[in-house]
Amino acid sequence: MTPRIREELLQLYAEVDAEVQAAGPRCDQSGRCCRFTEWGHVLFLSSLEAEHLLASAPAFSRPVSPDGCPFQVDRLCTAREVRPLGCRIYFCDPTYQETGQRIMERAIQRLKRLYEEEGLPWHYAPLHSFLNAHVPESKPTDSMSRLPLPQVND
Ligand code: SF4
Repeated sequence: MTPRIREELLQLYAEVDAEVQAAGPRCDQSGRCCRFTEWGHVLFLSSLEAEHLLASAPAFSRPVSPDGCPFQVDRLCTAREVRPLGCRIYFCDPTYQETGQRIMERAIQRLKRLYEEEGLPWHYAPLHSFLNAHVPESKPTDSMSRLPLPQVND
């Protein structure tokens, strides 16, 4: 990933975080949103988001199941700083669904523009497909930091 792409991605993440915070969805920290099959959804992300996530995420075991995210430990996200758009924007708060959808659509449009500007092929797939394709660098598992799940409204 070039420095410009990284900068653009981080800028997008910062703006999305601000939009979500302004919308103020409720988070009960149930952790269900990261247990995909149980909650009935799939976390999709782009290849650039996956690259950014995997550059800093904790070690994990493969194969990764589509059922949930390996970075959720004890209902906490251990990859919070580098989590992709879906994790930043999705909240189960029913009063936030339309707003979240709008934020997501705008973010994806912008991400697609970045791919176009950089001449990159658009690659958008479920989390487990990126994790199973990626050969993680060796990182000690005891370095895992435990951070709270996405939460903007206590
Ligand atoms: S990266 Fe974090 S917020 Fe995203 S699905 Fe995994 S545990 Fe949940």
